[in-house]
Amino acid sequence: MTIRIYCERCGFVFYRGDELANPQEIIRRYGNRCPRCYKPLILDPKKISIKAKQR
Ligand SMILES: [Zn+2]
Repeated sequence: MTIRIYCERCGFVFYRGDELANPQEIIRRYGNRCPRCYKPLILDPKKISIKAKQR
């Protein structure tokens, strides 16, 4: 399973990987805003893409 957390506006990827990460913690690490477009980040489960990898 690949977890991807990205900015909806500019597509900056904050996190991508197989490990189950805490999105809140990742967003906080960036100061609650996107480093590329400076959009304030609000944790919204609908904006977090979680895709199951087919084997
Ligand atoms: Zn952005």
